[in-house]
Amino acid sequence: MDLGLGNRVALLTAASRGFGLATALQLAAEGARVALCARGAADLERARRAVSAAGCPQVIAAPVDLTDGPAVEQFVARVERDLGPIDLALINAGGPPAGNLADLDLDAWEAAYRLTLESAVRLCRRLLPGMRRRRFGRIVQITSVTARQPLSGLTLSNVLRPAAHALIHDLARQAAADGVTLNSVAPGFHATSAIERIIAERLASGAAATRAEVLAGWEAEIPAGRLGRPEELAALICFLMSSHAAYITGQCIVADGGWVAGI
Ligand code: NAD
Repeated sequence: MDLGLGNRVALLTAASRGFGLATALQLAAEGARVALCARGAADLERARRAVSAAGCPQVIAAPVDLTDGPAVEQFVARVERDLGPIDLALINAGGPPAGNLADLDLDAWEAAYRLTLESAVRLCRRLLPGMRRRRFGRIVQITSVTARQPLSGLTLSNVLRPAAHALIHDLARQAAADGVTLNSVAPGFHATSAIERIIAERLASGAAATRAEVLAGWEAEIPAGRLGRPEELAALICFLMSSHAAYITGQCIVADGGWVAGI
């Protein structure tokens, strides 16, 4: 299937590893011109080389912290100057930290809001007007299954992920008549470095004795019996960015091997 992504300009945030990088690699293989940002410079340089090697005709990679408004603005302006108007955007960021109410002071709430919600609002405010004027655009946001079903011990995610999807849903209805779609993808447990950090936390807290025990616990809960692969979510994101997905907007599409129990 030709996804119609050739020569499109794609901006991806938090894309030096995990889902962001997997998506950048697939967009590159489809012939898109790709701009990546993330926090760690070393991972980002490795990602830049991998995206180039995947066939990307033009790649930009810049270290940017998504909570730093002026840095994000500078990055977007550079992408527009060097690659042209942005057609496709992947809104992604590191997840908010684990914890229950008693573990989280108000500073933690504010930091999580800035990373998870404000960064998405800023990018939408910056990118959506141009996409609407040009009458084409695709925005996909990575959230989490917690947008649909809370996970115990993840209060910040359980509160902020539904709000982040509500933003996308609201904007999707405003932009639908202009050829712009906005959707969220909501991953369940996937094998990325984020999941390795959660495993390390479980081991450190004594909740499990070995990595294999943590994994076996999750695999028993997931109907598919395994963790997802980042490439699987990336394929969904690329489809939502494709010319074939013009009539899908405002959705929160869960990719979780059947984990969410609600209808
Ligand atoms: P990852 O750890 O593999 O990659 C995270 C990326 O985010 C890196 O590129 C890192 O540099 C970047 N990043 C982190 N904080 C940043 C900041 N302030 N500014 C700019 N870049 C920043 O993680 P992943 O698994 O690809 O996760 C991506 C998103 O998906 C996260 O929000 C995560 O919580 C969510 N998620 C992951 C899973 C999973 O199982 N992996 C499940 C549900 C939701």
